[in-house]
Amino acid sequence: MNVVILSGGVGGARFVRGVVEVVGEVATSVIGNVGDDVEVLGLHVSPDLDSILYALAGLADEQRGWGRSDETWNALETVGALGGENWFALGDRDLGLHLVRTQALAAGEPLSAVTIRLAEALGVGAQLQPATDDRLRTWLDTPAGTFPFQEWFVARGHRDEVDAVRFEGEESARPAPGVVEAIDSADLILLAPSNPYVSVGPILAVRELREAVARRRVPCVAVSPLIGGRAVKGPADRMLLRLAGGTSPQHVAGCYPGLIDALVVDEADADDLEGLGDVRPIVTSTLMSDGDARRRLAEVALGAVPA
Ligand code: GDP
Ligand code: CA
Repeated sequence: MNVVILSGGVGGARFVRGVVEVVGEVATSVIGNVGDDVEVLGLHVSPDLDSILYALAGLADEQRGWGRSDETWNALETVGALGGENWFALGDRDLGLHLVRTQALAAGEPLSAVTIRLAEALGVGAQLQPATDDRLRTWLDTPAGTFPFQEWFVARGHRDEVDAVRFEGEESARPAPGVVEAIDSADLILLAPSNPYVSVGPILAVRELREAVARRRVPCVAVSPLIGGRAVKGPADRMLLRLAGGTSPQHVAGCYPGLIDALVVDEADADDLEGLGDVRPIVTSTLMSDGDARRRLAEVALGAVPA
């Protein structure tokens, strides 16, 4: 069985790891969000791709929830002491990856090719691709002004309510090589429990990708990032409340019109399954608190494929 997963960063990466542990690396293709990509200190950082790489390579810091384990911060401390740009936390080990990626991009290598090389070097056997090699960046309209994603998320701590999400470059962004083919040849399409607006949204903003999901002949199953109407972490619940008018399963499903056949929801949301229309609810415990929990969640989502 070939599975393709559309995924954001940390929440998505945990789920991707669970899927890989159940179906194996070779059967798993991951399409990652690049709307969060940012240039810091002259380096091209792709936080969501890196969260997936680190999770699959077993290098992620599970306590902190992002970045690499056994990380040190000497370079960033020096940057700060020298009056440099230090609002975006980049650890020493993490920096090494950004150096390699940035040099390759500067030499003209597409992001997808660099990502394949990085995955190979880290011993990751799953196919990981950015949604696009083109420049696609998420912007947020808020009452305090319009901000690029990382300025809103990191520098301002996502404190501003979001009135609209926009994707710079979406009109012209083409899918990265092999990504449409991965969707077309999958036996199952999964949308990770990532933020629908700023993690999965930028992937689906690539028109040909969205069309590939829309014309699927296999099930597409989304996993809700909300438990009891609340995000496990981050602003997904506040965004849904303001942009969709609620945080029930129907509001999550409403982010993916015509794109999903089933929605995996937590037991804590099981009493609120109104308004799902054609979308079949699958109720289970969705908190990925440890390896067993993430594998169980993956098994439930994978079980949606008819035999
Ligand atoms: P980011 O790109 O690093 O912000 O990560 P994602 O967008 O991929 O994931 C963030 C989302 O993951 C948040 O909305 C969380 O509510 C959700 N999330 C994190 N951990 C869990 C979990 O264990 N279970 C579920 N259902 N959602 C989770
Ligand atoms: Ca992200």
